[in-house]
Amino acid sequence: MPSFTVYKGSHDGSIKKAQTTKPDLRGDDVLIRVTASGLCGTDEHYRNVDMVLGHEGTGVVEATGPDVKYLKKGQRVGWGYEHDSCGHCDQCLSGMETFCPQRAIYGEADLDQGSFASHAVWREAFLFQIPGELTDKEAAPLMCGGATVFNALRMYNIPSTARVGIMGVGGLGHLAIQFASKMGCDVVVLSGTDSKKEEAMKLGAHEFIATKGKSELDLGRKLDALLITASIQPDWKLLLPAMAPNSVIFPLTVSGNDLVVPYMPLILNGTRIQGSIVAPRHLHREMLQFAAQHSIKPMIQEFPMSEDGIAKAMNTLNEGKMRYRGVLVPQ
Ligand SMILES: [Zn+2]
Ligand SMILES: [Zn+2]
Repeated sequence: MPSFTVYKGSHDGSIKKAQTTKPDLRGDDVLIRVTASGLCGTDEHYRNVDMVLGHEGTGVVEATGPDVKYLKKGQRVGWGYEHDSCGHCDQCLSGMETFCPQRAIYGEADLDQGSFASHAVWREAFLFQIPGELTDKEAAPLMCGGATVFNALRMYNIPSTARVGIMGVGGLGHLAIQFASKMGCDVVVLSGTDSKKEEAMKLGAHEFIATKGKSELDLGRKLDALLITASIQPDWKLLLPAMAPNSVIFPLTVSGNDLVVPYMPLILNGTRIQGSIVAPRHLHREMLQFAAQHSIKPMIQEFPMSEDGIAKAMNTLNEGKMRYRGVLVPQ
């Protein structure tokens, strides 16, 4: 029976080292030795919960169950937010298993393991091979952050002719800039101040707008799509007039609060608010392939995979000082 080290949240928010023991590998189970894990904003939401944290994992296959078909010991794999689904419902059969009513996702299922750990056991069906162009540390933040922004652009068919706004330059935003610009879109970055302008332009933005203190946004051509990746809800009265007719807004940041949006501008302009989560597996694979093909890589800050290292990484993220994705690395 595989037994390994995991790192959990706790009632007082401190990170606790613990041990998880799983049954002997069954079906298409794969035992993975974790080599890197990204730190996502969603981990922060579970910091006070007694569960293993982390859902941007990469690692090496150590052992395979009896029904594993294509993965071999030593291969590099990653996993993200979803660990399993029923395989039979309409959503599963149409390649939208992220919306399966019986899906197993981070925070709801398999709370005894995660990517803040020495090892994990997941189904082969929900693991992704990492392209040779990406290191484990580079691939980790793509498993949730990359998949989230790619899914919004790809599942909802944002064309290469679109003018795409990215609000917020952080873990998600700095990846969204790269994906959207490599897809050929006209990318406008909206950020509070000018402090991240130079980096945003290097990542592929065509235009950068500092929004702080502005009561009106003069964008010239309006936005066909807007990805909200900032940690706080935006000033809708500022944003809605900048949206093109029949445009789409993706609120991608997880929040426990209600989304409060002015009513009439949506109706009169045909702007829609589109919910979107991580990518289903076929798009997740495509995302990794796209990242490899176009040299899309996260900018990372490394921390040791330990109680102290995880706490330090989470505090850095909380203080808004992460540039731009924290990655935990086993020592
Ligand atoms: Zn995440
Ligand atoms: Zn299903």
